[in-house]
Amino acid sequence: MKLILLGPPGAGKGTQAKRLQERYGIVQISTGDMLRAEVVAGSTIGREAKAVMEAGQLVSDDILIRMLEARVARPDCAKGFILDGFPRTVPQAEALDGMLARRGVELDAVVELKVDDAALVERIAGRYTCAGCGAGYHDMFQMPRMAGVCDTCGGGRFTRRADDNRETVGARLAAYHAQTAPILPHYAAKGRLHAVDGMAEIDDVTVELTGLLDGLGRDAL
Ligand code: AMP
Repeated sequence: MKLILLGPPGAGKGTQAKRLQERYGIVQISTGDMLRAEVVAGSTIGREAKAVMEAGQLVSDDILIRMLEARVARPDCAKGFILDGFPRTVPQAEALDGMLARRGVELDAVVELKVDDAALVERIAGRYTCAGCGAGYHDMFQMPRMAGVCDTCGGGRFTRRADDNRETVGARLAAYHAQTAPILPHYAAKGRLHAVDGMAEIDDVTVELTGLLDGLGRDAL
């Protein structure tokens, strides 16, 4: 299955992508995670991207398109993938069309997770992850069962993204509405766009999402 999860920052794309990855045995490709890894590694791309990301703006199409093209060519993508955070602009969507066509691959679905802007600020400002296994938590909505201990791996170190703060969220939402939302009609015109209510509880979103994807038929799975 080849899938794109679309939606504003904080809509739950990463959380749902991890669940879909397990259920369908396909890989999550998060361009945000890839860029954060470049920043940590101090690579040329990372040095270029760091300030842009911290300002809540989008890194250049050029860099992202090259990065994504190399990633989908890797063997673990043969069975399928979930794009989380790409495409984020019309030129990226067009470049993706070209790269998939060259590989003879078709997208099965593009799913938009719909969430109100006001809820996103609360979601993003409170979220953090386990430094050991990447499990996601939230100060108010999803605390570990035992304070300071990861439910999944028992680790005790947690991290917050540099751009997950109230000041930067406004810029990230503005970038979403100005640059990313315009790609929705691109996929609607291809008859591939579906919408899921991202305001629901995490488990309920998963149920709706998997119901939708299972309904696409066996060919997609
Ligand atoms: P994310 O983890 O998807 O929220 O991405 C974090 C940040 O990485 C974004 O705010 C952008 O600065 C950058 N980024 C991630 N994916 C893309 C993309 N496809 N195009 C441009 N910038 C991106």
